[in-house]
Amino acid sequence: MQADLLIRDACVVTVNARREVWGRGAVAVRDGRFVAVGDSQQLTEVIEAQQVIDATGKVLFPGMINTHTHLYQTLLKGLGDGRALIDWLHVLIHPVLPHLTPELAYAAAMLGAVEALHSGTTTLLDYMVAEATPEVFDAIVQAGEEVGIRLYLGRGLSDLPREGLHAPSLEEGIRDAQRLRRRYGDRIWLSPGTAWQMSDAALQRVSELARDEGFHVTIHTNEVTYDNLASLRASGLTNIERLERSGLLGPQLLAVHCVNLSEDEISAFARHGVAVSYNPVSNMILGSGLPPIRRMLREGLRVGLATDGAASNDSQDMVEALKFAVLFPNGALRDPALLSAYDAVQMATRGAAAAMGIEDENGSIEEGKRADCFLFDPAICAKAIPLLDPVSTLVFSSSLSNISMTMVDGHILMLDRKILSVDEAQILREAQAAAEELVSSSGVAELMAGRYRLL
Ligand SMILES: [Zn+2]
Repeated sequence: MQADLLIRDACVVTVNARREVWGRGAVAVRDGRFVAVGDSQQLTEVIEAQQVIDATGKVLFPGMINTHTHLYQTLLKGLGDGRALIDWLHVLIHPVLPHLTPELAYAAAMLGAVEALHSGTTTLLDYMVAEATPEVFDAIVQAGEEVGIRLYLGRGLSDLPREGLHAPSLEEGIRDAQRLRRRYGDRIWLSPGTAWQMSDAALQRVSELARDEGFHVTIHTNEVTYDNLASLRASGLTNIERLERSGLLGPQLLAVHCVNLSEDEISAFARHGVAVSYNPVSNMILGSGLPPIRRMLREGLRVGLATDGAASNDSQDMVEALKFAVLFPNGALRDPALLSAYDAVQMATRGAAAAMGIEDENGSIEEGKRADCFLFDPAICAKAIPLLDPVSTLVFSSSLSNISMTMVDGHILMLDRKILSVDEAQILREAQAAAEELVSSSGVAELMAGRYRLL
């Protein structure tokens, strides 16, 4: 059999339905897809590949899928901690948004996409808010294309003004989402910010548009108690009741956070097939709380892991998110067996693909699926040695420095920890300059009072 690439003598953690792990495995890639997965010795004998990577001592995992982030926030690392969500929005996020030019958004997205590759992320779902200009959305997609990562973009929608920001037009936002979709395909999703940023009519409009034109939808949901307070005040209904009445609850919906979800609401999600994005680091940074992750998994919800934006993380590091995904619930609920290391890897790969509705193409190392994967090299640092259980080592004893190779669609975008698709040093320089410009022009430099100030 002919192949473009053979990765041999790796431990291959497939994350397929049978949870197969090949102790000494190999994968062959042709035309951007895995065409063979199995025992290394057998595949090496029958496959003739143009390029061969000897991955002895390394572990091959499916590429991680970050189901929720805001790439523009990579310019705000280090400024968001110590504040709860609503305060954080008012003090940091709202002042920054009017100053976010397409150039700054591009620099931010390049930085975030490069950091994602370093942490083994091959797909991400970015969520850009309704108040951004159309050029900002294009800049983010362009950055994703240049880096080569599989980038999905949620086009923010809202019809209610937020403090300090201009009131976005829902119809203009929808027309722009349709424009983006014509240009970039079904990577474009509809993203109402929150239910409380939407009138009932607007929620209904988005629901109908999703149904009629086949859009996926993602929305911040029940992140803090304010979600329900605002909904009850506006309409006498809870947040989830409003979403249900609008027709938005369905398999096309990826609900983000879901910290405050009752048992009945989780059952409603299960009935409607709603998927959930789990953002443990952000939920801890903002003090939002622990989502009922055990119950959601028990009810069979599709759950995907995510970092959230870097203003509430403060990174795009999915390796770090794996560890917190397990330790947050297990520690808070005093149950060391509540979630396992494998559960975290599942939620970052196969589960995340299912949550985004792309599991036929992504999320595991299987013949026929897109060749998205990363190589884990334990020998780079003392932390990851000894390697005895590769899943446990990835989740509990590693850092992104252990990710040595990242591949998207059969293209090696990072090899030996060097980014091949773009000039990383230049991106870091431009992002630092962009962050300093944005922090100065928006006035949020004041937030740095009492910190170790750089500016
Ligand atoms: Zn978010």
